Amino acid sequence: MISFDCIFGEMSFQTELIKWYKINKRDLPWRNTTDPYVIWLSEIILQQTRVEQGLPYFNKFLENFSTVKRFAAASENEVLKLWQGLGYYSRGRNMLFTAKQVMELHDGKFPTAYEQLIKLKGIGDYTAAAISSFSNDESKAVLDGNVFRVLARYFGIEEAINSTIGKKIFAELAQSLIEDQKPSLYNQAIMEFGALQCKPKSPHCNDCPLQLSCFAYNNDKVNVLPLKLKKVKVRERWFNYFIGLNDDQILIKQRKPGDVWQQMYDFPLIETNNVAGLDDIDFIDDIKKMFGNNVKIRSLVQKKHMLTHQIIYVHFFGLENYMINFNLHTDIKSVTLEDFATLPHPKVISDFFELYLQNKPNI
Ligand code: SF4
Repeated sequence: MISFDCIFGEMSFQTELIKWYKINKRDLPWRNTTDPYVIWLSEIILQQTRVEQGLPYFNKFLENFSTVKRFAAASENEVLKLWQGLGYYSRGRNMLFTAKQVMELHDGKFPTAYEQLIKLKGIGDYTAAAISSFSNDESKAVLDGNVFRVLARYFGIEEAINSTIGKKIFAELAQSLIEDQKPSLYNQAIMEFGALQCKPKSPHCNDCPLQLSCFAYNNDKVNVLPLKLKKVKVRERWFNYFIGLNDDQILIKQRKPGDVWQQMYDFPLIETNNVAGLDDIDFIDDIKKMFGNNVKIRSLVQKKHMLTHQIIYVHFFGLENYMINFNLHTDIKSVTLEDFATLPHPKVISDFFELYLQNKPNI
């Protein structure tokens, strides 16, 4: 077991944190329950998402699916539609799978034990520790970005949080700190402290109760810690979408598995290796192959869409005089705008729809 010294000693670190938490904690709906299903909903929805952004989604999901049984009975389209705009759509899909697993493996009773939770799809170490400690006071320390940051700064850990050795050091320290504490209270306290006090940028060191014994503060390393190994390279992609609108009918396509936004609906697409304009002969050839020789094309709007490991440059084009062979392009269909609105879309598509198609389809 790794041991870290601090002026107050470990007990004071936890005591100060809990004292701070009782005064400063936010009143969030999932804090007032020990229901593992509700905690699971909140944890998955809030992954990689700010609380203010995730809260309305949490409320929407709970209103629509008050129990795991109701969730498990939903269609994928229903779940994706509710999830729309939150990003990382695989989380929504995984949740549906998990809800079904809970029905099959646990007869609809959401587990509270870490060892059972970790076997469910989409539930990793962090989520299993959060659910088991919040719902059942199991002594499992959570380690999310907030906790890594607080521990790295306070204890002066200079191993990268995403390296193998770093993960081991942080996990052992975190687990040693939760022993003899009330797990639900301690875990929530350290996470909230990281979110509100020891923030990534401009932490509130001046009024921090841990300041005296904080390694980073006393060694001028607040802006250095935690350390992280460099990220993988971001991939750039160019999506050229074609808006084929005829009265209230629009051409749409369902995205395939194995790529971003799988199974969601967008428009006919030509992906290019770089920016493609209407003066690009190869690009025009590809468009004519898809929409006929007489097609007229005009540029409508361009957007830059950021994902975790991808930047997608999206260019929407309007079509006139187009012909499409549905036997050849079996993935493309024509639906009414009304039906299109009910389907799940990536955010960049729903934004375009709301701005240009929903009320004034005059493009
Ligand atoms: S003094 Fe600053 S860096 Fe140290 S724990 Fe407090 S807020 Fe974080």
